[in-house]
Amino acid sequence: MATTLAPPQLDKNVTDFLSKPRKMLLGGKWVEAASGKTFETYNPATGEVLARVAAGDREDIDRAVKAARRAFEEGPWPEMLPAERSRLLYKLADLIDQHREEFAELETLDNGKPVFFSRIVDVPTAIETFRYFSGWATKIEGNTVPISMPGAKYFAYTLREPVGVVGQIIPWNFPLIMASWKLAPALAAGCTVVLKPAEQTPLTALRLGELVMEAGFPDGVVNIIPGFGETAGAALAAHPDVDKIAFTGSTEVGKLIVDAARGNLKKVSLELGGKSPNIVFPDADLDAAIPGSAAAIFFNQGQCCTAGSRLFVHKSIFDKVVDGVAQATKTFHIGPGIDPTTNLGPLVSKEQQDRVCGYLESGAREGAKAVVGGHKIAGGGYFVEPTVLVDVKPQMKVVREEIFGPVVTAIPFSTPEEVATFANDSIYGLAAAVWTRDISKAHRTAAKLRAGTVWINCYNVFDSALPFGGYKQSGWGRESGHAVLELYTEVKSVCAQI
Ligand code: NAP
Ligand code: MG
Repeated sequence: MATTLAPPQLDKNVTDFLSKPRKMLLGGKWVEAASGKTFETYNPATGEVLARVAAGDREDIDRAVKAARRAFEEGPWPEMLPAERSRLLYKLADLIDQHREEFAELETLDNGKPVFFSRIVDVPTAIETFRYFSGWATKIEGNTVPISMPGAKYFAYTLREPVGVVGQIIPWNFPLIMASWKLAPALAAGCTVVLKPAEQTPLTALRLGELVMEAGFPDGVVNIIPGFGETAGAALAAHPDVDKIAFTGSTEVGKLIVDAARGNLKKVSLELGGKSPNIVFPDADLDAAIPGSAAAIFFNQGQCCTAGSRLFVHKSIFDKVVDGVAQATKTFHIGPGIDPTTNLGPLVSKEQQDRVCGYLESGAREGAKAVVGGHKIAGGGYFVEPTVLVDVKPQMKVVREEIFGPVVTAIPFSTPEEVATFANDSIYGLAAAVWTRDISKAHRTAAKLRAGTVWINCYNVFDSALPFGGYKQSGWGRESGHAVLELYTEVKSVCAQI
């Protein structure tokens, strides 16, 4: 691990933000938890405490839901013109834009990810998400519907109305992007929100909450309650006055959300885990496919729900591609994310480092061989070596389960039919990729893959306009694009005899 540079000077707003205990945003006010409890958030590059944060629990969630209910039914928000909601969202985007560097550094310090990527991926994506959904606020429409009932004349139409008070629970891998993916469409649709960020990474969501208020959103429209999943998260998912819960995280917790939602049958949408196949055909442009396959797994330290964690390579080029991906890891600059030259940072937490190392040990026990990597990196911080495993069998845990770390299993195949079968042999169906110069083969394979997104000759390309979500146990519903508005609206049919 190279740590050549002294830590750079942090943005002054970042040092200020970290110097005080952070409260929760509830009904437009920054308040302590009802219990007075706080928790610590850590810098994964060093293991040191970054900040203290109010620990929301059942009572805080209940107060936040009441505030969100009031804001949904009374005051300026339900009366607000779509164009005014649109302007608020655009203003919020502009405010984030004005604080780009601050958000990038805060995200990196809290999550560990390289600031290089926070600057060019996380922060710009959040800004563009609010801008894109700002546009949708004025374009959510119903239809007029022809009625065939004999005997009278009818005029019928549909309205798309906000679903109501929305609970949103997000993970730690892209904290600011996840907060924007959740908040922007819900607010465009006219909902009010209680958002619970992950305990590991609450900071950028809390800073975003300050800008939400600065932009001028009415009190209670956005409430941000940091805290633990088992307490605050569970209370939000089960709350009888929450109309809809939107969750991103593990499939395991996704199932708990479904159970918790049954009390009042709140609407549920889920973005869950993945074990995405990344397929390299023998006619691929290997100058693109090899670095593309390395980035597919190692971007964000492998902590992506879409990570290309199962690399399928045609047997005629298997050794060449595997060697190329392994060599790519040797060029990585591994270190604290705040060093601007770092492109592979630490994992988010000690717990995640232990979990990933547990998979590495399980793989080794079951006979997998590490071509490169295979261990944690000693010293401070939660670093794990980028790892390529070969000699893997379909039933191994490292092939079947989501590792959520910088670990890829490489598997040879013979025919397009065989690799489609291999690729679909998973409980997950979030994403997949195909590398080939044969456009017919690319599209035929894309059609066969049971996944919500298929990339062709690229990986991890996201756009606010492009629906994203999972087949099978990777989730329910689609985020981004106009598809996500269905998650945050109800359709009302109005029928009049005229
Ligand atoms: P997780 O437990 O699913 O966390 C996601 C969110 O759910 C967090 O805000 C978490 O709160 C909350 N949560 C946890 N238990 C809950 C409950 N019973 N009711 C309501 N909310 C609850 O994920 P994790 O523990 O951070 O990571 C575990 C594994 O999940 C990872 O190794 C990875 O495989 C997977 N994961 C997948 C994604 C994805 O996008 N697909 C994202 C993150 C993790 P706290 O964090 O405060 O506990
Ligand atoms: Mg957790």
